[in-house]
Amino acid sequence: MTGLDSALPPFRAPLAPPDEELAAGLLADAAHDDATERRIDARARTLVEAIRARTGGLGGIEDFLHAYSLSTKEGLALMVLAEALLRVPDAATADRLIEDKLAAGRWLDGDIKSPALLVSASAWTLGIAARIIHPGEMPETILDTIARRLGLPTLRAATRQAMRLISSHFVLGQTIEEALDRARGHAEFRYSFDMLGEGARTASAAEKYFAAYAAAIAAIGSSIGNVAPRSPAARPGISVKLSALHPRFEAISQDRVLAELKPRLLDLARMAKAHELQFTVDAEEAERLELSLDVIGAVLADPSLRGWDGFGLAVQAYQKRALPLIAWIEDAAATLSSRLTVRLVKGAYWDTEIKRAQERGLDDYPVFTRKAMTDLCYMACVKRLLAARKNIFPQFATHNALTVASVIEAGGVEGFEFQRLYGMGEALYAALLADLPGATCRVYAPVGGHRDLLAYLVRRLLENGANSSFVSVAADPSVPIEEVLRRPQSWIASPAAARNAKIPLPRDLYQPQRRNSAGIEFGERASLDALLAEIRAGAAGSSEAQPLIDGVALQGIERTVISPIDGRAIGVVREGDEAIARAAMAAAAAGFPAWAATPCEERAALIERAAERLESHRGELLALLQNEAGKTLDDAVAELR
Ligand SMILES: Cc1cc2nc3c(=O)[nH]c(=O)nc-3n(C[C@H](O)[C@H](O)[C@H](O)COP(=O)(O)OP(=O)(O)OC[C@H]3O[C@@H](n4cnc5c(N)ncnc54)[C@H](O)[C@@H]3O)c2cc1C
Repeated sequence: MTGLDSALPPFRAPLAPPDEELAAGLLADAAHDDATERRIDARARTLVEAIRARTGGLGGIEDFLHAYSLSTKEGLALMVLAEALLRVPDAATADRLIEDKLAAGRWLDGDIKSPALLVSASAWTLGIAARIIHPGEMPETILDTIARRLGLPTLRAATRQAMRLISSHFVLGQTIEEALDRARGHAEFRYSFDMLGEGARTASAAEKYFAAYAAAIAAIGSSIGNVAPRSPAARPGISVKLSALHPRFEAISQDRVLAELKPRLLDLARMAKAHELQFTVDAEEAERLELSLDVIGAVLADPSLRGWDGFGLAVQAYQKRALPLIAWIEDAAATLSSRLTVRLVKGAYWDTEIKRAQERGLDDYPVFTRKAMTDLCYMACVKRLLAARKNIFPQFATHNALTVASVIEAGGVEGFEFQRLYGMGEALYAALLADLPGATCRVYAPVGGHRDLLAYLVRRLLENGANSSFVSVAADPSVPIEEVLRRPQSWIASPAAARNAKIPLPRDLYQPQRRNSAGIEFGERASLDALLAEIRAGAAGSSEAQPLIDGVALQGIERTVISPIDGRAIGVVREGDEAIARAAMAAAAAGFPAWAATPCEERAALIERAAERLESHRGELLALLQNEAGKTLDDAVAELR
């Protein structure tokens, strides 16, 4: 493989094996005896009670997430407000969006009456803004228009203030120095700093993120200064996103990514090593997993990192490849004779994964479609990681009290740490650490300006607003604790129940009308390689095209077609002349008699057969689309579909 000088084998595993097959293994692994279940229950119950006892609900941002979940109009409106304020460059457009969206919410209604300061402050600010301008209440007169205009700057200021308030609860500091300062006040926690920002779209954005990561590593390193060296596990750390470090972090750009991103990641890892920091690569979308591991594998194998056990990566339990991935990490640690850290999360991009698989017409989803399957997989990964503690330092990132209690039951408190997001899980971990002083919890602390907060905020809102989310039910006193503590294996009674019946397979999305056109996941190297081989084979022959009128092929004027890619002759086209054009017009005027005489059912079947043939000849057609018009693979596949 070009550019890949890693001693590690590439990570390759089927993207989307059947849920039922995976469920059989996970369910067998989930069985516990009664005494174990009782102990898990007792601890989890204590934790949930501690959470509920906290005045004003969960405290901090969790109250806010509960009040403004994205399933409410207000939550959605808030997102659009954030968008308006952060992305729209001119004040006038921002004002119009704000005006529009405030009208959609019921900011001053009884629904949002949380005593928590953050929620009431936000509701108040947004409520005031909604009062100042409420299009529904204002007749469309000139006077009102002026009044509206006068109100808008105030409105914008009020909304900005509310956003600032929200940001300050999610973000430890706007700069790394500010974050380090605030962290110093809480020496009881370990921190992993996360420079907000992702998905660099340009080379200069990627350079900016690289510089921010490098500066943050230097600042964190100098903040711990000459403190006696301790294991990286006990030291502060930094989390990086590969998508922030390269503008083309995508599977079809593999060679370029390996050539350009590997040295960048290696530079950052070396800097972290020099300060003995923890260095974790965040997990992003499933389509990027194999590519991430190509880059990580190449970096890890670099001799300059030997003797350092601070390198880590995140694993998402909602991905069907989670267990094979942990096996790959175990092998990597053994091959390199070094200890790696693994942050186990459930996964923050669930909605995106589902939508993307549907959009791309994949055979199946790369993630589970029932939350209980993710929980089962999480616990299977926990056990595997705990068993590998010699070579792996596990980090269990969760705000779910049942998950926390189950982890402790599986592994005690030694040789791993818990992790929580800044502003979340405070009550849970305060109660846990008070009860079990040997347990440790690291705080993942976002750092950055409000401008970079949006993607992070949307993920938190999507994840915590869902009814299935632990944060959402734990905050709701009307949900009995027994319900909150219901085990995932009781939701998945048998492997047949592993899938969410309301989420059709991507190919059945438009049924019963029609099948979805078949797509491909470029991020699965095996599928991409198979497609590229088909395209190479499809490009081998020469193509011919000619006019066809009502089923009859005609000759026309011959022209050689030259590929804009390399100037090669790729075939011959016979273009219709005037006589052929007239014949076509006449056939159309006559209503294409042969076609018109074909019964409707038969015509439909013919069209379906044509679609099937387009799919079964995809190699030739994609080669043609690329060679004739110079299309990218992405565009060519989209056109074929
Ligand atoms: C310290 C820390 C670091 C993190 N880093 C990352 C990271 O690098 N990459 C990343 O992706 N996320 C990351 N996260 C976010 C993490 O994935 C979510 O916070 C986590 O999923 C919430 O899990 P929970 O156990 O707290 O909550 P729970 O409420 O128990 O679980 C919610 C999760 O269940 C899953 N889920 C929900 N509905 C379904 C469904 N229908 N089918 C299948 N699964 C479903 C989703 O993963 C959802 O997020 C991090 C979180 C923390 C605390």
